[in-house]
Amino acid sequence: MTVRTATAALALAGATVLVPTANASADLASQVSAEGANRHLIAFQRIADTHGGNRAAMTTGYDASVDYVAGRLREAGFDVTTPTFEVKRKVNDAGRIAVGGSAYDLIPFGDTPNAEGLTAPLRVVAEDGTPGCEASDFAGQDFTGSVALIRRGSCTFVTKYTNAVNAGAAAVIISNNADGPLDLRIPGKIPGAGVTKADGTALAAKAGQQVTVELRHHDVVHLDRNVIAQTRTGREDNVVMAGAHLDSVEAGPGMNDNGSGSAALLEIALKMGARPGLPNAVRFTWWGAEEAGLVGSKAYAAGLTFEQQLDIALYLNFDMVGSPNPGYFVYNDPGLPYGSKHIEKAFTDYYNAKNLGPEGLNVRGASDYGSFTALGIPAGGIISGGGEVKTPAQAAKWGGTAGVEMDPCYHRACDHLGNINREALGRNVAAAAHVIAAYGVTTEGVNGVPSRAERAVDQRRATASNRWLPTSNARPSVSPNSSTDANPAA
Ligand SMILES: [Zn+2]
Repeated sequence: MTVRTATAALALAGATVLVPTANASADLASQVSAEGANRHLIAFQRIADTHGGNRAAMTTGYDASVDYVAGRLREAGFDVTTPTFEVKRKVNDAGRIAVGGSAYDLIPFGDTPNAEGLTAPLRVVAEDGTPGCEASDFAGQDFTGSVALIRRGSCTFVTKYTNAVNAGAAAVIISNNADGPLDLRIPGKIPGAGVTKADGTALAAKAGQQVTVELRHHDVVHLDRNVIAQTRTGREDNVVMAGAHLDSVEAGPGMNDNGSGSAALLEIALKMGARPGLPNAVRFTWWGAEEAGLVGSKAYAAGLTFEQQLDIALYLNFDMVGSPNPGYFVYNDPGLPYGSKHIEKAFTDYYNAKNLGPEGLNVRGASDYGSFTALGIPAGGIISGGGEVKTPAQAAKWGGTAGVEMDPCYHRACDHLGNINREALGRNVAAAAHVIAAYGVTTEGVNGVPSRAERAVDQRRATASNRWLPTSNARPSVSPNSSTDANPAA
């Protein structure tokens, strides 16, 4: 047993004496640290470095991340499961357009139907100021059954695509208006693809000629795992859930997004311990394939019965909590389920008590909490910023550099260990610990369910006054047919 393990064991022993009072949140917030979270970040960085540079869905780097988190939690005595879910990845088998003796590479749009040797005349939409953005752009020539070539710019790809479909085109190709390939996502009725600016210009010179379009792809289905760990104490019908996505993008190791949230949550779980004695059970979750469209959390939410949904009091989300040029933001999306405002206030009050001047941010459901708010479950979270550019006023109160993005390495290869602000990480792991433990004590502000201590007081009061004690006359008699329903042990 190493010294470090001994320290962890002491912390665990300390955690087990947490009493169900408001002090629990202060105790836990003071036990967690940036150093503790940083050790897990180092683990994630090394996993990425030894697994091809990333920890993305469907990769061995993700699997190793799951094994690390689940292993640490099992050692700490949590009830851990790693349920699987399906993730799909599109593999392109062919993408080209042939005309005369030449051929050009195409990048199939996301969700495009295949085109197996589609031969048709090439019709080029005139390159005016808004090419393909108006139905009238398709008026001068017959697009029926044609391959329509449209230049990017001025309106959405979907608008151009839809206008071409309405004009009767059999396939749509959009050429870039800047250098580089063009990869788009359009839910297509007809085949669609992108082409480079140079190839698009070359193709446009061949308007009216017969072209042959070849687009073929297939889906690879992979099973990834979520990590679900619940405390062995507390009410299982009023669970406090806290989650972070464990996958990175393919571009890099994903230390801020979202090694930071994953590491913070693991630090909190290990310091809280599996038997914290809080009135409510706490369920920690690490989601897979968030970057592929919240796939892991959506699959988990879809697998819950309505009764299991009701067992969840609220959901707290931690996605990017160590940004290098950090801000202190609390989710404040409009229209979140009842109870979410209380969560927003809990984080805001905590930051205000630390004189951090938090700001609200509409995250637009773009992380795993969206899978829970869709079910009406109250949710909230914190984020230290991504592409937002820090204002001078924000730099004055938060430090860092005005005029620079809060995370310039967002979704890039440089989101490595050097991309973490450890002061922000330490503040945010404490904020998360405080709010998780506070709701572990009571969720009354969110859903009216008081703490065990408060309920005990109510019960003593009721017993003393005899007001609420059931009597044979006060309750309807139970018919023999419903006797099993009336007996919880049955
Ligand atoms: Zn993220």
